[in-house]
Amino acid sequence: MKFIGILGSTGSVGQQALDIVKEHPKKFKVKFLTCDSNINELIKQLVLFKPNYVSINKSEVKQELKQFINSKNMDCQVLSLKDLIHKVKVDIVLNAISGYQGLEPTIEIIKTGTDIALSNKESIVQAGHIVIELAKKYNVNIFPVDSEHSAIWQCLVGEDKNNIKRLILTASGGPFRKLDKSKFFEVTKKEALNHPNWSMGDKISIDSATMMNKGFELIEAYWLFGIDLEKIDIIIHPQSLIHSMVEYIDGSIKAQISTPTMKIPIQYAFSYPDRFAIDKLDNNFELWKVMNFEGVDLEKFKCIKLAYKAIKLGGSYPTVLNVSNDIAVDLFLNDKISFEMIPKIIEETMKKHNYNKNPNLLDIKYLTKWVEDFIPNMVESL
Ligand code: MG
Repeated sequence: MKFIGILGSTGSVGQQALDIVKEHPKKFKVKFLTCDSNINELIKQLVLFKPNYVSINKSEVKQELKQFINSKNMDCQVLSLKDLIHKVKVDIVLNAISGYQGLEPTIEIIKTGTDIALSNKESIVQAGHIVIELAKKYNVNIFPVDSEHSAIWQCLVGEDKNNIKRLILTASGGPFRKLDKSKFFEVTKKEALNHPNWSMGDKISIDSATMMNKGFELIEAYWLFGIDLEKIDIIIHPQSLIHSMVEYIDGSIKAQISTPTMKIPIQYAFSYPDRFAIDKLDNNFELWKVMNFEGVDLEKFKCIKLAYKAIKLGGSYPTVLNVSNDIAVDLFLNDKISFEMIPKIIEETMKKHNYNKNPNLLDIKYLTKWVEDFIPNMVESL
């Protein structure tokens, strides 16, 4: 039996993780759940999974949550996120918080010496140099939940890292793969949220449409696997059946293939080094028929280019890339800016920020605040 804590339990990955727990009641038990503000979904989860501890970020609904727990006589304590991470002992914590807010919890979990199933790739993008060092210091495993990185991880099991020729990250190309870049100005929110293969949360759906998601995943792979940037390639594979690959020096390529589902990467992070059955998964070669591959147009998907630039320049650039993307995506989702403005805002913010060669956590905090203030002012002046 593994005891599990889930941060961001009401989001898309959090809910799928709970489905896995439900399917394996003898293997997993939920010790704590946390969410940002969706109290209705959280209450449903409390009734179903009976965690002993819970946390909600939005202070206005904290009292309502406590009243519900008291009214049902539940054995469940409401704590702040930080207290919960430090007080409650579990075997693994899934960090499925969305966006740059996920960094601090990642750091706190590492400090407790607990393994992390990491869905919040922004933690690595924003502060890879700190997160990886700290994980080493506290002897913590970071298990990727991102489908591409889970695929690479699975392809690497039993292999010598020195024999890697390159990592090949696959990308679906998102909803605008075939759209001419001159048409980006007329893209609507609904079109951008409509991913062809994956059902995901809003933020990551927009990141897939701009392909910033793949830029982030490049940075994530660089830190997680400790591989030179020159040895990481991105290839568009519209069917999303191959979730990523590793090519070895003898020319052999290992791939992880399955029908697109987040269940496999989430469950593998929980079950590793074991594998547990997943029922009703349809791997059907007769339906698949074709697998295509094409290169990425970096002039069209400028966000990937910005991610390359950020990781090459290093220091504070990846932090600014990450936070400015979050804020730009949020502005787009709230109809404040057009789709094509997203990379423009990020580029401008990267240009204008005060470069720091080796930012610590406090520097990152200040920089985050600076970006949060800078972007609304810039957008207003446009
Ligand atoms: Mg991914």
